[in-house]
Amino acid sequence: MCLFCLMDFTVESFETVENFQLQGGKWGGNQVNGFSGDTVTYSFATQNILGQFENFDSFLTDVSFQREVTQSFAAWENVADIRFQLVPDSGSVDIRLGWGNIDGGGGILGQTTVPSFGALSDVVIILDIDEDWFLNGDAPPENIDFSATVTHEIGHAIGIGHSQKSKALMNATYSRTILDLQNDDKDAAIEIYGENDITKIEIFRFFNPNAGGHFFTSDGLEKTTVENSDIFSLEGIGFHAIAKNQAQEPDLMPVYRFLNAFSGSHLFTAFEKEKDHLITNADFVFEGVAFKAFASQSSATVPVHRFFNTEIGGHFFTANTFEMEIVSSMSQFRYEGAAFYAYTDVEL
Ligand SMILES: [Zn+2]
Repeated sequence: MCLFCLMDFTVESFETVENFQLQGGKWGGNQVNGFSGDTVTYSFATQNILGQFENFDSFLTDVSFQREVTQSFAAWENVADIRFQLVPDSGSVDIRLGWGNIDGGGGILGQTTVPSFGALSDVVIILDIDEDWFLNGDAPPENIDFSATVTHEIGHAIGIGHSQKSKALMNATYSRTILDLQNDDKDAAIEIYGENDITKIEIFRFFNPNAGGHFFTSDGLEKTTVENSDIFSLEGIGFHAIAKNQAQEPDLMPVYRFLNAFSGSHLFTAFEKEKDHLITNADFVFEGVAFKAFASQSSATVPVHRFFNTEIGGHFFTANTFEMEIVSSMSQFRYEGAAFYAYTDVEL
C-alpha cells in the first residue's frame, strides 16, 4: 500500500491547456474545501526523525535561502485563507524542509511528500542540493530559480497537484518564464481554503522636525490635515496594518491609539493591560481602535518594533529591520519589543 504521494518538479517539458488539480488532502480543522487552513507550522529541519516520510541529506541553514522559503510561504498566504508560522524543528512540525541529493544538476529539482489520504500532516519538502540555484527572483536561463521551485513544492504541501495548464507554476515542468504564482495556481489554493480576505491598510508616517517625534495615521482626512499643517513632513508608508472593521480571525487583535498630551506623539498598543493602565493615566488621551494587527508572526507578516524616546518621551515604531538596527544603537531610544505583527512592502 502506498503510504504517501511523491510529487516531483522536473525540467522536462510538455504543454497542455487544462486546469489545476487537487490532491485531496488539506490543512485545517474543517476538512471541507473552501474552509480555512488555519495556522500551519513549518521548520528548517535540523535532524532526521525516525518514521518521517523521507530523509534529508543535509540541512537548509543558509539564511538567504531560508528568507526565500518564508517569502514563498507568504506568496500562498497572501492568496488563500491559511497562515504559515516558522517554528523550531521537531517531529510535530507540519511542513519540514531540507536538502537532498536527488539526481544531480537538472532533472528533478524538488520533492514533496504528503500523506496519500486524509488530512495533510507531516509533510516533507526536499530540495535538490546539486542545482545551480539562483536567489532573489527572476533567475537567468542558465540557473534554476529557488523561490519558484520552493513555491511550487509548497503548492503540493498544501494539497495542490500538477496543473495541466502551461501557464501555471504548478505545472510539472519548470518554466524559465513562469517564476511566481499564476491565476491557475491562485484559483487552486482558493478552491481549497477560500480567499484571503484581509483588508490591508497603509499606515502613513510623519516626522516632526521641531519636536523630533513621529506621527502615524491610516485616516485619509487626518493625513491630509497633517500634511497641510507645515509641522510634519510625510516620510511615507510606515507599515501596512489591517482595517479595523476586518472580521475576526485567529490571532487578530485591535491596536489602540493614545495621544501623549506632553509630547504630542501617539502611542499604539495591542496589549489590553497596557490599554487599561493608560486609560487611567491623565497624560494620555484614549483615541480608540486605530487598526488591527496580529499577535504572532506568520510568513507574510513582520514585527513592528516599538521604541521609547527617553529624551522627548514619545514612542517610535518601525517595521524596517535596517532602521530598527540603527535606532537600537541610538542611546536615546529604549527598545520595548515587537508591538504587534503587520505587513511591509505589500502590493495593495
Ligand atoms: Zn511538482
